[in-house]
Amino acid sequence: MLEELKEKVFQANLDLVKHNLVIFTWGNVSAIDREKGLVVIKPSGVSYDTMKASDMVVVDLHSGKVVEGDLNPSSDTPTHLVLYRAFPEIGGVVHTHSTYATAWAQAGRDIPNIGTTHADYFHDDIPCTADMTADQMAEYEYHTGVVIVNRISSGNINPVHTPGVLVKNHGPFSWGKDADQAVYNAVVMEQVAKMAFISLSVNPDTTMNPLLVEKHFSRKHGPNAYYGQKKKQ
Ligand code: 13P
Repeated sequence: MLEELKEKVFQANLDLVKHNLVIFTWGNVSAIDREKGLVVIKPSGVSYDTMKASDMVVVDLHSGKVVEGDLNPSSDTPTHLVLYRAFPEIGGVVHTHSTYATAWAQAGRDIPNIGTTHADYFHDDIPCTADMTADQMAEYEYHTGVVIVNRISSGNINPVHTPGVLVKNHGPFSWGKDADQAVYNAVVMEQVAKMAFISLSVNPDTTMNPLLVEKHFSRKHGPNAYYGQKKKQ
């Protein structure tokens, strides 16, 4: 079942290792088949060195029940499912413990949009979620998704234009139209987290003109995008 999607999700998980975003068994990637209402996700706690495409687990979007797979799905599966249910435009979700993005998450600070690299991919500051309450921690992974969705909606943030978030004291989650784009956004998030950290160390008052943010974001996204090559007709 969903063999092609399993292969894509497997390769996207290996890409996290290739881009130095994960060590040991940290992190996870999933992707969704919207027509079938099924999500394919990495198994929990399995080494990236020995993982196979056939180890990917298929879960139901709504019930969270395992539909196919011998291994337990990622412990973060309930978080991924909340994101797929809340953001119908997304097709892939990534979680890592990449160093700089996780450092901002631990510090409980949004990553400010202070450079064109950031503005090319994330329209807004990359927001950090609120503290979880003790009640929320009782159903921890589900509520990790809830605090993410709350932060995005309370900030009036478009999840397609700002495809990622920091979960306070935990780490980054990113998403995209598919698993590959979600990994791409995780790589960009780590890089802009590092750049912002260094820029603010050099000059704690670093800011960027909002007009420059719009210029860079709209060069790459939306009806007037002109970056790159013309699409073939
Ligand atoms: P899993 O191996 O269960 O996906 O957990 C990895 C992780 O990073 C948990 O936050």
